[in-house]
Parts: sequence; C-alpha cells; structure tokens
Amino acid sequence: MEKVFKIFLLVILYVYGAVRMPYMKNRDKIKYIKNKNTKLEKMNVFIAWLGMCLVPHLYAFTNIFGKYAMKITFWGRSLAAFLMILDVVYFYYIHRELSNNWSPILEIRENQKLITSGVYKYVRHPMYTQCWAWVFLQGIVASNAFVWIFGLLSWGFLYFTRVFNEEKLMLEEFGDEYKEYMNKTGRILPKIF
Ligand code: SAH
Repeated sequence: MEKVFKIFLLVILYVYGAVRMPYMKNRDKIKYIKNKNTKLEKMNVFIAWLGMCLVPHLYAFTNIFGKYAMKITFWGRSLAAFLMILDVVYFYYIHRELSNNWSPILEIRENQKLITSGVYKYVRHPMYTQCWAWVFLQGIVASNAFVWIFGLLSWGFLYFTRVFNEEKLMLEEFGDEYKEYMNKTGRILPKIF
C-alpha cells in the first residue's frame, strides 16, 4: 500500500508542476520593473523546493526516511490524498485569478494590477494558504515525520521571510489602494471581524 501513496505523491507533484508551467513560461516574457531582495528570495525558493520537491522524490524513490514512518491509518492517508487533489484544483484556480501578476519571487511586473477579485476579495495570500495545506497534507499522505516536518519548516521559512516584505512592496507600489485592501482582508485566512 505504501507504494500507492508514493506514486500518488509523485503524480500530484507533477500535476502541481504542470499547473504552474504556463505561468512560469509566461513570466519570462513580461518585464519586471521592481524586484526585492532577489538573492534572499532565490535562496528561499531553493529551500522551499527542498521540502516540497526533493524530499517527496526521495521519499518516493528510496527508503531513507523509513525510520521516521508514522502510524497514520490508510483512511487518514486517503483523506489527506483527497484533500491534496482539492488543493491542486485550488492551486489552478488561484493561478488563473492572479494571472500575469504571479511570480516565483517578489517583484512588480510591467502593467501589474492589484488583484482583489475572487478569493483575493477575502484573503491577501491565498496561494500561501494553499502551500501551507500542501506541506501539511503531503506529510500525512507519506505518513512520515521527516517529510512532514521538513516540508512544514522549509515552506515556513519561505513564508515568514517573504510575506511581510511582500506586503511592504505592495504598499510601496499600490499605496492607499493596498492599505484599504489590507483593512478588508485577512493575511492567509478571511477576516472574521
Ligand atoms: N502572495 C500572493 C501571490 C504570490 S505570487 C498569494 O499568496 O496569492 C508573488 C507575486 O504576487 C509577487 O511578486 C507580488 O508582486 C504579486 N502579488 C501579490 N499579491 C498580489 C495582488 N493582490 N495582486 C497582484 N499581484 C500580487
């Protein structure tokens, strides 16, 4: 049964990649006009890549994390796998919403617009919410403490070193429009009050 979950994690990883691919290609065509801490950003993206790509591959192709296996039931793992399918659908939807404004690092693109529609009406960083769900779920599907904790830490590192800088950059670029937007929205979850 372990094999089925290993194959599932690999396949879903490539589905995430396939969803992102056109935006990655498109990005090369659009000039940026401002970017922030490029070196730090590239390092952060690399660290996140370790936990969200390399470690799941090592888990799938080897048994080096075998001693960190957790005892999550088949149904628990299956539920996490199902939620991961929803997560990838959500990933697709957010990319469509953000469109040409998406970037793997912090930057302002030529003709960038502030997106406040769809899920962006309620949350400023829905893609980051989605990434938290991704790393949380992949560790449960793998039922492996190393995959789980390393994934959470590597994504967490990118998240915490980026999100405040991102809001600073957006404030610089969009000024009062972003300030007002911040008042109406939550950072990664909708504002309740
Ligand atoms: N933090 C967002 C976007 C991640 S992609 C999310 O979680 O959904 C990172 C790029 O998105 C940054 O380079 C930034 O310029 C851009 N960006 C972030 N929020 C945006 C918004 N509301 N509208 C347009 N671009 C945005």
